[in-house]
Amino acid sequence: MAACMASQAATRGLMAATSKNLLVNKLKLHCNWLSPKRWLNLQEYQSKKLMQECGVAVQRFFVADTASEALEAAKKLDAKEIVLKAQILAGGRGKGVFDSGLKGGVHLTKDPAVVGELANKMLGFNLTTKQTPKDGVKVKTVMVAEALDINRETYFAILMDRSCNGPVMVGSPKGGMDIEEVAASTPELIFKEVIDIYDGVQDDQADRMAANLGFKGPLQRQAADQIKRLYDLFLKVDATQVEVNPLGETPEGQVVCFDAKINFDDNAEFRQKDVFAMDDLTESDPTEMEAAKWDLKYIGLDGNIACFVNGAGLAMATCDIIDLHGGKPANFLDLGGGVKERQVYEAFKLLSADPKVEAILVNIFGGIVNCAIIANGITKACRELELKVPLVVRLEGTNVHEAKRILRESGLPITAADNLDDAAKKAVAAIKK
Ligand code: ADP
Ligand code: MG
Repeated sequence: MAACMASQAATRGLMAATSKNLLVNKLKLHCNWLSPKRWLNLQEYQSKKLMQECGVAVQRFFVADTASEALEAAKKLDAKEIVLKAQILAGGRGKGVFDSGLKGGVHLTKDPAVVGELANKMLGFNLTTKQTPKDGVKVKTVMVAEALDINRETYFAILMDRSCNGPVMVGSPKGGMDIEEVAASTPELIFKEVIDIYDGVQDDQADRMAANLGFKGPLQRQAADQIKRLYDLFLKVDATQVEVNPLGETPEGQVVCFDAKINFDDNAEFRQKDVFAMDDLTESDPTEMEAAKWDLKYIGLDGNIACFVNGAGLAMATCDIIDLHGGKPANFLDLGGGVKERQVYEAFKLLSADPKVEAILVNIFGGIVNCAIIANGITKACRELELKVPLVVRLEGTNVHEAKRILRESGLPITAADNLDDAAKKAVAAIKK
């Protein structure tokens, strides 16, 4: 679902262009279905805590795991109006539906007594939105927040954009709704400001963005201030995306962030320990989680040929060529560089545990990777896991002769392939047998 949510972020062409996002997006183009990709996503309430620390204007809130806690929280808030929001890692909650029958993952009420009943119909039930899988996602937490009247809803985001070599602000006076729809129907209402990573957001940029969002007079100054604070947050937490939809305006003349979505750069985990400690793994795919534990990247697809590759480019080429020969990739597992025999073994364990898999195609180009290590990992895995499905191996690059010797002399039923095309043909043929 994380993959779906990433698409919420941006107008086309402004996608947060980390290499992972890029890979997932490209894969989306030629695969009908793509399972979630793991990169850190936080719940709205967690993102809002980070926002509060940077002085961003959010409403007072409590978090509850049970209906009685939610009711207590609503009473404690002592607000004129209360908003109850289901916490899932997907947007579009407002228009979502629960399998309890309740419509809407965001509810406003003036009566705190109702909050318990509403929470009862949210907690433990699946909420389906435009961005969740079709069965929805189970709600385990709700946010009970002070509701404010909103005069106007705008859209504001900061994202890393590869084509600009850095952060870009994206905003629209038409917020609160699906921003991709706004970009498609009224592209003239999408405004961008490229930020120089060394200089940060300049006053004139923040003012211009605030004006483009339609804030006037003192509200414009407030919005510009919020924009700068959101950029401070973006830098402070190593975000790849900070999205506020809606960034709203109240009749009392306040500019407030009503929703929050932050994505993070996984490479910054070493210096963002507190942020990564908040990771809610319960919505993640268990296979992806297990792969991540071994520093492997796993993406589930819906075919039957498992792809064992190193590097995103090779993964895409492998998927394409399988497709070309009439097969369908079941998943791919990216080994990355500097791989150890143990990782190869664990990778095979993950691939062969998937019941959809009817053949495994290994396509490794040894640059940093030593092919002999891969070959040893493969033979060990084949023996210990008693691999039942056909295995086609194409190795090229560093130490490939030694690797081929290891495979040949192993006596295992491994089909060697000369090149990628040959490998894909053989893998597809192995299934048809
Ligand atoms: P989602 O994007 O998942 O649908 P939002 O947090 O954007 O969830 O909430 C949906 C809508 O609910 C917002 O566009 C806004 O109109 C309303 N809303 C959300 N939070 C509040 C609040 N604190 N006070 C008043 N209205 C709110
Ligand atoms: Mg929203």
